Amino acid sequence: MVELRDVSKLYGGVAALRGVSMDIEYGELVGIVGPSGSGKSTMLNMIGTLDRPTGGTVRIAGHDVSALTDKQLSALRGNVIGFVFQQFHLAAGVPALDNVADGLLYGGPSLRERRLRAYEALERVGLEHRIDHRPHELSGGERQRVAIARAVVGNPELLLADEPTGNLDSRSGAGVMELLRELHAAGTTVVIITHDRGIAASLPKQVEMLDGRVVPEARSGLVEGART
Ligand code: ADP
Repeated sequence: MVELRDVSKLYGGVAALRGVSMDIEYGELVGIVGPSGSGKSTMLNMIGTLDRPTGGTVRIAGHDVSALTDKQLSALRGNVIGFVFQQFHLAAGVPALDNVADGLLYGGPSLRERRLRAYEALERVGLEHRIDHRPHELSGGERQRVAIARAVVGNPELLLADEPTGNLDSRSGAGVMELLRELHAAGTTVVIITHDRGIAASLPKQVEMLDGRVVPEARSGLVEGART
């Protein structure tokens, strides 16, 4: 699903990524973990094709990102990748149903079809009784579930979640994690960016970042071992 080879990213003189190689298989549930400034968001930008690397190769679902035009990249993002952000990024004043239906603007099914599929996605996250509610009428946990419904309404193969529980109390956060696990169990590849070691430790696979590099698995295992 994701193949990074010797990927580097420079911002001016700052190396945010320094030669990262990593694979994520179809159907995996992976945490990308590391302290602030370690390069996690830059990794998300690379995997989500939101930005191009300075060096190295990024392949998503078999496509070499550097070989795609901006239009082809938009198509890849629109058809293959769903995004969930810490700040939810829902449209203010817009009912949940239409916030989710807007996740289908790429590819352009009719409004009726979009709303029908949005309703199904809201059912999937347990919010079919909240379709008319605007974001300010929802709790933080409900807002994030709406955002997840929007991310998955187009059935993306890859779901990228950037600190999805960062703005939630622990109970709502646990509900959101449960939902992400359900989506993974249903076949979606799920990548969760987090600085929360507890969340990372609960995931079947972790990629640990430090100073723009992936910490080798053996060493990251030793670090975990040393701590326990
Ligand atoms: P994390 O998400 O783990 O906190 P980031 O990927 O945001 O880490 O940042 C990695 C490094 O790259 C940091 O030193 C950060 O200051 C730098 N960086 C990230 N984005 C930019 C940018 N747009 N311009 C300049 N420096 C950046």
